[in-house]
Amino acid sequence: MMERRPNPSSTIDPSRSRVLIVDDSEDLHRLLRARLKHDELEFESAYHEQEAFEKACSWSPELILLDLSLPSEDGLVLLRRLKDDARTRDIPVIVLSAHQAPRYKVAAFDMGAVDYVTKPFELIELRVRIRSALRMHQLIQMLAQRAQVDGLTGLWNRTFFDKRWQEEYSRCQRHGHPLSVAMLDIDYFKSINDNYGHPMGDQVLQSIARILRQNAVRESDLACRYGGEEFVIVMPDTNAIEAAVVCERIRQAVAEARWARTPDMRVTASVGVVGASGPVKISAEQWVELCDKNLYNAKHSGRNRVVVTDLAGTTTLSVRHAA
Ligand code: GH3
Ligand code: MG
Ligand code: MG
Repeated sequence: MMERRPNPSSTIDPSRSRVLIVDDSEDLHRLLRARLKHDELEFESAYHEQEAFEKACSWSPELILLDLSLPSEDGLVLLRRLKDDARTRDIPVIVLSAHQAPRYKVAAFDMGAVDYVTKPFELIELRVRIRSALRMHQLIQMLAQRAQVDGLTGLWNRTFFDKRWQEEYSRCQRHGHPLSVAMLDIDYFKSINDNYGHPMGDQVLQSIARILRQNAVRESDLACRYGGEEFVIVMPDTNAIEAAVVCERIRQAVAEARWARTPDMRVTASVGVVGASGPVKISAEQWVELCDKNLYNAKHSGRNRVVVTDLAGTTTLSVRHAA
Protein backbone atom coordinates (compact mmCIF):
# COMPACT_ATOMS: atom_id res chain seq x y z
CA MET A 1 0.00 0.00 0.00
CA MET A 2 3.04 2.20 0.42
CA GLU A 3 3.50 4.74 -2.37
CA ARG A 4 6.79 4.68 -4.24
CA ARG A 5 7.12 8.44 -4.27
CA PRO A 6 6.35 10.68 -1.30
CA ASN A 7 3.25 12.80 -1.69
CA PRO A 8 3.10 14.83 1.53
CA SER A 9 0.78 17.44 0.02
CA SER A 10 -2.11 14.98 -0.38
CA THR A 11 -5.31 16.38 1.10
CA ILE A 12 -7.99 14.65 3.12
CA ASP A 13 -10.94 13.76 0.90
CA PRO A 14 -13.17 10.87 2.01
CA SER A 15 -14.98 10.77 -1.35
CA ARG A 16 -13.83 8.23 -3.96
CA SER A 17 -12.69 5.96 -1.13
CA ARG A 18 -12.93 2.19 -1.53
CA VAL A 19 -15.38 0.56 0.86
CA LEU A 20 -15.73 -3.21 1.21
CA ILE A 21 -19.17 -4.35 2.41
CA VAL A 22 -19.14 -7.73 4.15
CA ASP A 23 -22.59 -9.17 4.78
CA ASP A 24 -24.38 -12.42 3.94
CA SER A 25 -27.57 -10.60 2.98
CA GLU A 26 -27.87 -9.15 -0.51
CA ASP A 27 -30.27 -6.53 0.88
CA LEU A 28 -27.61 -4.61 2.77
CA HIS A 29 -25.28 -4.46 -0.25
CA ARG A 30 -28.11 -3.16 -2.41
CA LEU A 31 -29.31 -0.68 0.18
CA LEU A 32 -25.89 0.85 0.82
CA ARG A 33 -24.96 1.05 -2.85
CA ALA A 34 -28.27 2.75 -3.68
CA ARG A 35 -28.48 5.12 -0.75
CA LEU A 36 -24.83 6.17 -0.68
CA LYS A 37 -24.41 6.56 -4.42
CA HIS A 38 -24.09 10.35 -4.16
CA ASP A 39 -21.26 10.01 -1.67
CA GLU A 40 -18.88 9.05 -4.49
CA LEU A 41 -17.66 5.98 -2.65
CA GLU A 42 -16.47 2.93 -4.53
CA PHE A 43 -18.06 -0.29 -3.23
CA GLU A 44 -17.04 -3.92 -3.39
CA SER A 45 -19.11 -6.76 -1.93
CA ALA A 46 -18.15 -9.92 -0.07
CA TYR A 47 -20.68 -12.44 1.21
CA HIS A 48 -18.57 -14.74 3.36
CA GLU A 49 -15.37 -14.64 5.40
CA GLN A 50 -12.86 -16.09 2.96
CA GLU A 51 -14.07 -13.90 0.12
CA ALA A 52 -13.94 -10.88 2.44
CA PHE A 53 -10.39 -11.62 3.57
CA GLU A 54 -9.18 -12.14 0.01
CA LYS A 55 -10.78 -8.90 -1.20
CA ALA A 56 -9.36 -7.02 1.79
CA CYS A 57 -5.89 -8.19 0.66
CA SER A 58 -6.25 -7.76 -3.09
CA TRP A 59 -8.50 -4.69 -3.41
CA SER A 60 -6.95 -2.68 -0.53
CA PRO A 61 -10.16 -1.04 0.70
CA GLU A 62 -9.91 2.10 2.82
CA LEU A 63 -12.82 0.94 4.99
CA ILE A 64 -14.59 -2.34 5.74
CA LEU A 65 -18.23 -2.50 6.83
CA LEU A 66 -18.47 -5.86 8.57
CA ASP A 67 -21.68 -7.60 9.52
CA LEU A 68 -21.27 -9.68 12.66
CA SER A 69 -23.67 -12.50 11.82
CA LEU A 70 -21.92 -14.07 8.85
CA PRO A 71 -22.86 -17.63 7.85
CA SER A 72 -20.02 -20.01 8.67
CA GLU A 73 -18.25 -18.35 11.56
CA ASP A 74 -18.61 -15.41 13.82
CA GLY A 75 -17.77 -12.07 12.16
CA LEU A 76 -15.49 -11.42 15.12
CA VAL A 77 -13.25 -14.25 13.91
CA LEU A 78 -12.86 -12.45 10.59
CA LEU A 79 -12.21 -9.20 12.44
CA ARG A 80 -9.43 -10.91 14.40
CA ARG A 81 -7.97 -12.35 11.22
CA LEU A 82 -7.99 -8.92 9.55
CA LYS A 83 -6.26 -7.33 12.54
CA ASP A 84 -3.67 -10.13 12.82
CA ASP A 85 -2.47 -9.81 9.24
CA ALA A 86 0.00 -7.06 8.30
CA ARG A 87 -1.68 -6.62 4.89
CA THR A 88 -5.09 -5.77 6.36
CA ARG A 89 -4.30 -4.57 9.91
CA ASP A 90 -4.50 -0.85 9.13
CA ILE A 91 -7.84 -0.95 7.29
CA PRO A 92 -10.49 0.54 9.59
CA VAL A 93 -13.47 -1.72 10.25
CA ILE A 94 -16.96 -0.53 11.20
CA VAL A 95 -18.99 -3.39 12.65
CA LEU A 96 -22.67 -3.53 11.72
CA SER A 97 -24.64 -5.79 13.97
CA ALA A 98 -28.09 -6.65 15.25
CA HIS A 99 -26.46 -7.55 18.58
CA GLN A 100 -27.22 -4.80 21.10
CA ALA A 101 -25.52 -6.46 24.07
CA PRO A 102 -22.51 -4.51 25.40
CA ARG A 103 -20.30 -7.61 25.40
CA TYR A 104 -20.38 -7.72 21.57
CA LYS A 105 -19.50 -4.05 21.38
CA VAL A 106 -16.68 -4.45 23.89
CA ALA A 107 -15.31 -7.47 21.99
CA ALA A 108 -15.45 -5.64 18.65
CA PHE A 109 -13.66 -2.54 19.97
CA ASP A 110 -11.12 -4.71 21.82
CA MET A 111 -10.28 -6.45 18.58
CA GLY A 112 -9.65 -3.16 16.82
CA ALA A 113 -12.97 -2.10 15.23
CA VAL A 114 -13.16 1.69 14.91
CA ASP A 115 -16.93 1.84 15.29
CA TYR A 116 -20.00 -0.30 16.06
CA VAL A 117 -23.38 0.45 14.50
CA THR A 118 -26.44 -1.51 15.59
CA LYS A 119 -29.01 -2.69 13.08
CA PRO A 120 -31.46 -1.43 12.09
CA PHE A 121 -29.56 1.81 11.59
CA GLU A 122 -30.46 5.25 10.36
CA LEU A 123 -28.67 5.77 7.06
CA ILE A 124 -27.93 9.38 7.89
CA GLU A 125 -26.02 8.19 10.96
CA LEU A 126 -24.12 5.45 9.15
CA ARG A 127 -23.09 7.97 6.50
CA VAL A 128 -21.43 10.32 9.02
CA ARG A 129 -19.75 7.40 10.76
CA ILE A 130 -18.33 6.18 7.42
CA ARG A 131 -17.05 9.67 6.62
CA SER A 132 -15.56 10.07 10.06
CA ALA A 133 -13.73 6.71 9.87
CA LEU A 134 -12.40 7.50 6.38
CA ARG A 135 -11.22 10.96 7.43
CA MET A 136 -9.43 9.57 10.47
CA HIS A 137 -7.82 6.81 8.38
CA GLN A 138 -6.58 9.30 5.77
CA LEU A 139 -5.21 11.57 8.48
CA ILE A 140 -3.30 8.71 10.09
CA GLN A 141 -1.89 7.65 6.71
CA MET A 142 -0.86 11.20 5.89
CA LEU A 143 0.90 11.63 9.24
CA ALA A 144 2.62 8.26 8.86
CA GLN A 145 3.90 9.25 5.44
CA ARG A 146 5.02 12.70 6.57
CA ALA A 147 7.06 11.09 9.32
CA GLN A 148 9.01 9.36 6.55
CA VAL A 149 9.57 12.36 4.30
CA ASP A 150 12.44 14.83 4.56
CA GLY A 151 11.10 18.36 5.09
CA LEU A 152 13.75 20.23 3.10
CA THR A 153 13.95 18.09 -0.04
CA GLY A 154 10.66 16.18 -0.12
CA LEU A 155 12.60 12.92 -0.57
CA TRP A 156 12.10 9.90 1.65
CA ASN A 157 14.07 10.17 4.90
CA ARG A 158 16.48 7.88 6.73
CA THR A 159 13.70 6.11 8.68
CA PHE A 160 12.02 5.14 5.42
CA PHE A 161 15.31 4.03 3.87
CA ASP A 162 16.17 1.75 6.83
CA LYS A 163 12.80 0.00 6.53
CA ARG A 164 12.66 -0.27 2.76
CA TRP A 165 16.26 -1.36 2.38
CA GLN A 166 15.59 -4.38 4.61
CA GLU A 167 12.48 -5.20 2.56
CA GLU A 168 14.24 -4.87 -0.80
CA TYR A 169 17.20 -6.89 0.48
CA SER A 170 14.85 -9.71 1.58
CA ARG A 171 13.10 -9.61 -1.79
CA CYS A 172 16.45 -9.89 -3.57
CA GLN A 173 17.54 -12.81 -1.36
CA ARG A 174 14.23 -14.65 -1.61
CA HIS A 175 13.34 -14.18 -5.26
CA GLY A 176 16.76 -13.52 -6.79
CA HIS A 177 15.83 -10.11 -8.18
CA PRO A 178 18.71 -7.74 -9.01
CA LEU A 179 19.21 -4.91 -6.52
CA SER A 180 21.56 -1.94 -6.19
CA VAL A 181 22.12 0.82 -3.70
CA ALA A 182 24.03 4.08 -4.13
CA MET A 183 25.27 6.63 -1.60
CA LEU A 184 25.95 10.15 -2.78
CA ASP A 185 27.77 12.82 -0.78
CA ILE A 186 28.26 16.41 -1.94
CA ASP A 187 31.92 17.38 -2.28
CA TYR A 188 33.22 20.18 -0.05
CA PHE A 189 29.69 21.13 0.90
CA LYS A 190 30.92 22.93 3.99
CA SER A 191 32.71 25.43 1.78
CA ILE A 192 29.49 26.04 -0.22
CA ASN A 193 27.79 27.00 3.04
CA ASP A 194 30.81 29.09 4.06
CA ASN A 195 31.16 30.91 0.73
CA TYR A 196 27.56 31.34 -0.34
CA GLY A 197 25.59 31.06 2.90
CA HIS A 198 23.51 28.36 4.52
CA PRO A 199 20.26 29.23 2.61
CA MET A 200 22.18 28.72 -0.65
CA GLY A 201 23.42 25.40 0.74
CA ASP A 202 19.79 24.45 1.32
CA GLN A 203 18.95 25.35 -2.27
CA VAL A 204 21.76 23.12 -3.48
CA LEU A 205 20.35 20.23 -1.44
CA GLN A 206 16.94 20.82 -3.04
CA SER A 207 18.49 20.93 -6.52
CA ILE A 208 20.34 17.66 -5.91
CA ALA A 209 17.06 16.11 -4.77
CA ARG A 210 15.48 17.23 -8.05
CA ILE A 211 18.37 15.72 -10.03
CA LEU A 212 17.96 12.43 -8.16
CA ARG A 213 14.24 12.38 -8.90
CA GLN A 214 14.81 13.13 -12.57
CA ASN A 215 17.60 10.61 -13.08
CA ALA A 216 16.54 7.72 -10.88
CA VAL A 217 13.91 7.23 -13.52
CA ARG A 218 12.26 3.95 -12.67
CA GLU A 219 9.05 4.25 -10.72
CA SER A 220 10.51 1.72 -8.28
CA ASP A 221 13.71 3.69 -7.57
CA LEU A 222 13.71 5.18 -4.07
CA ALA A 223 15.68 8.38 -3.57
CA CYS A 224 16.20 9.25 0.09
CA ARG A 225 18.02 11.92 2.07
CA TYR A 226 20.26 9.87 4.33
CA GLY A 227 21.27 12.86 6.46
CA GLY A 228 23.01 16.25 6.07
CA GLU A 229 24.40 16.34 2.52
CA GLU A 230 24.23 12.59 1.95
CA PHE A 231 21.67 10.81 -0.17
CA VAL A 232 20.92 7.16 -0.91
CA ILE A 233 19.14 5.62 -3.88
CA VAL A 234 17.68 2.14 -3.65
CA MET A 235 17.31 0.65 -7.13
CA PRO A 236 15.25 -2.55 -7.15
CA ASP A 237 15.51 -4.77 -10.25
CA THR A 238 18.70 -2.94 -11.24
CA ASN A 239 22.11 -4.64 -11.42
CA ALA A 240 25.46 -2.99 -10.64
CA ILE A 241 26.18 -2.02 -14.24
CA GLU A 242 22.78 -0.41 -14.77
CA ALA A 243 23.07 1.36 -11.39
CA ALA A 244 26.52 2.66 -12.35
CA VAL A 245 25.05 4.20 -15.51
CA VAL A 246 22.29 5.92 -13.49
CA CYS A 247 24.82 7.25 -10.97
CA GLU A 248 27.23 8.45 -13.61
CA ARG A 249 24.34 10.37 -15.18
CA ILE A 250 23.54 11.88 -11.77
CA ARG A 251 27.21 12.79 -11.18
CA GLN A 252 27.31 14.58 -14.53
CA ALA A 253 24.00 16.39 -13.95
CA VAL A 254 25.27 17.67 -10.58
CA ALA A 255 28.57 18.85 -12.08
CA GLU A 256 26.76 20.64 -14.92
CA ALA A 257 24.08 22.28 -12.74
CA ARG A 258 24.13 26.09 -12.54
CA TRP A 259 22.42 28.46 -10.10
CA ALA A 260 21.06 31.77 -11.38
CA ARG A 261 22.05 33.85 -8.35
CA THR A 262 25.54 32.36 -8.04
CA PRO A 263 26.60 31.59 -11.63
CA ASP A 264 30.22 30.99 -10.65
CA MET A 265 29.32 28.29 -8.10
CA ARG A 266 30.25 24.69 -9.01
CA VAL A 267 28.99 21.68 -7.13
CA THR A 268 30.20 18.12 -7.49
CA ALA A 269 29.31 14.89 -5.73
CA SER A 270 30.97 11.56 -5.05
CA VAL A 271 29.03 8.31 -5.31
CA GLY A 272 29.51 4.78 -4.00
CA VAL A 273 27.46 2.01 -5.63
CA VAL A 274 27.07 -1.67 -4.79
CA GLY A 275 24.81 -3.87 -6.90
CA ALA A 276 23.97 -7.51 -7.48
CA SER A 277 22.09 -9.50 -10.10
CA GLY A 278 20.73 -11.95 -7.54
CA PRO A 279 21.11 -13.27 -3.98
CA VAL A 280 24.29 -12.24 -2.15
CA LYS A 281 26.40 -13.67 0.67
CA ILE A 282 26.53 -10.50 2.76
CA SER A 283 23.94 -9.00 5.13
CA ALA A 284 21.82 -5.92 4.37
CA GLU A 285 24.01 -3.92 6.80
CA GLN A 286 27.26 -5.12 5.21
CA TRP A 287 25.90 -4.15 1.80
CA VAL A 288 25.35 -0.55 2.96
CA GLU A 289 28.78 -0.52 4.70
CA LEU A 290 30.42 -1.58 1.45
CA CYS A 291 28.56 1.18 -0.36
CA ASP A 292 29.83 3.67 2.23
CA LYS A 293 33.35 2.34 1.72
CA ASN A 294 33.04 2.92 -2.02
CA LEU A 295 31.89 6.46 -1.32
CA TYR A 296 34.94 6.92 0.93
CA ASN A 297 37.17 5.60 -1.88
CA ALA A 298 35.52 7.98 -4.36
CA LYS A 299 36.31 10.86 -1.99
CA HIS A 300 39.89 9.84 -1.41
CA SER A 301 40.68 9.15 -5.03
CA GLY A 302 39.80 12.70 -6.04
CA ARG A 303 35.99 13.24 -5.58
CA ASN A 304 33.46 13.94 -8.40
CA ARG A 305 33.40 10.25 -9.35
CA VAL A 306 31.45 7.01 -9.02
CA VAL A 307 32.97 3.88 -7.47
CA VAL A 308 31.08 0.67 -8.17
CA THR A 309 31.19 -2.86 -6.78
CA ASP A 310 29.41 -5.68 -8.56
CA LEU A 311 28.60 -8.39 -6.03
CA ALA A 312 27.98 -10.96 -8.76
CA GLY A 313 30.58 -13.74 -8.65
CA THR A 314 33.94 -12.26 -7.78
CA THR A 315 33.86 -8.75 -6.46
CA THR A 316 35.12 -6.29 -9.01
CA LEU A 317 35.82 -2.69 -8.23
CA SER A 318 35.75 -0.15 -10.97
CA VAL A 319 36.41 3.54 -10.64
CA ARG A 320 34.80 5.89 -13.08
CA HIS A 321 36.87 8.98 -13.34
CA ALA A 322 35.32 12.34 -13.87
CA ALA A 323 35.26 13.47 -17.48
P1 GH3 B 1 33.52 16.12 1.69
O1 GH3 B 1 33.87 16.47 0.28
O2 GH3 B 1 34.61 15.36 2.35
O3 GH3 B 1 32.20 15.45 1.78
O4 GH3 B 1 33.44 17.51 2.49
P2 GH3 B 1 32.14 18.24 3.04
O5 GH3 B 1 32.50 19.66 3.33
O6 GH3 B 1 31.01 18.04 2.10
O7 GH3 B 1 31.82 17.39 4.31
P3 GH3 B 1 31.63 17.77 5.81
O8 GH3 B 1 31.06 16.52 6.42
O9 GH3 B 1 32.88 18.33 6.38
O10 GH3 B 1 30.54 18.90 5.82
C1 GH3 B 1 29.19 18.66 5.58
C2 GH3 B 1 28.47 19.95 5.75
O11 GH3 B 1 27.09 19.83 5.42
C3 GH3 B 1 28.50 20.46 7.18
C4 GH3 B 1 27.10 20.88 7.47
O12 GH3 B 1 27.04 22.17 8.00
C5 GH3 B 1 26.42 20.85 6.14
N1 GH3 B 1 25.01 20.51 6.23
C6 GH3 B 1 24.45 19.40 6.75
N2 GH3 B 1 23.10 19.48 6.67
C7 GH3 B 1 22.80 20.65 6.08
C8 GH3 B 1 21.59 21.32 5.71
O13 GH3 B 1 20.46 20.82 5.92
N3 GH3 B 1 21.67 22.52 5.10
C9 GH3 B 1 22.87 23.10 4.82
N4 GH3 B 1 22.89 24.27 4.21
N5 GH3 B 1 24.04 22.50 5.18
C10 GH3 B 1 24.02 21.31 5.79
MG1 MG C 1 28.96 13.92 4.46
MG1 MG D 1 30.29 16.08 1.74
